[in-house]
Amino acid sequence: MERSYQFIYDRLFHYYGPQNWWPAETVFEMMIGAILVQNTSWRNVEKALLALKPYIRPERIERLAVDELAQLIRPSGFFNIKAKRIKSFLQWFQSYHYELDKIKKLDRQSLREELLNIHGIGRETADVLLLYAFDKPIFVVDAYARRILYRIGFDMPTSYDSFRRKVENELPNKLALYNEFHALIVEHAKEHCKAVPICEDCPLTVICDKRIE
Ligand code: SF4
Repeated sequence: MERSYQFIYDRLFHYYGPQNWWPAETVFEMMIGAILVQNTSWRNVEKALLALKPYIRPERIERLAVDELAQLIRPSGFFNIKAKRIKSFLQWFQSYHYELDKIKKLDRQSLREELLNIHGIGRETADVLLLYAFDKPIFVVDAYARRILYRIGFDMPTSYDSFRRKVENELPNKLALYNEFHALIVEHAKEHCKAVPICEDCPLTVICDKRIE
């Protein structure tokens, strides 16, 4: 049985179907959601986004004081920190006059470096933004990807970028594939490969070593 990332992608896609991520009404909402989801569940993010709904435009959030913003996003946890992060991100976004097309013209590496220079934007958040806001094909290395690939039996590097490159080196450079792959990994970690895995009927059981700690 072939144990490749492409095989995993194909099996997950066939089993769960297209996920059509990111769950947001606008690209700006997606970007804010990517910051709010740091260290919390999506359920908490949804509550924060609901409170933020009347303000979910860059110019409106720009006008909010950091304290006001923090109170609105309170349900997402770490709200004071995240309010400052959103403000820093906005400052950067404003330097492009909030024009997505201008940002998308940058090459992936330059844009990634810019994002990583923003206060509070780490690799995972930067890559989620690159993938779902700026249309750059990239593999997002989150805790779910680490868990699933470890359990299957892949010998993965511990460093974020080495892990990412190892997967990318074996996959075609296609935006749609990376867009779906991250979403499918999240879905699989919620449905089958949970903290305590449900291996019965798992679409990956045919190739999985089931290395459960
Ligand atoms: S067989 Fe079990 S451990 Fe392996 S990927 Fe599926 S749910 Fe996870």
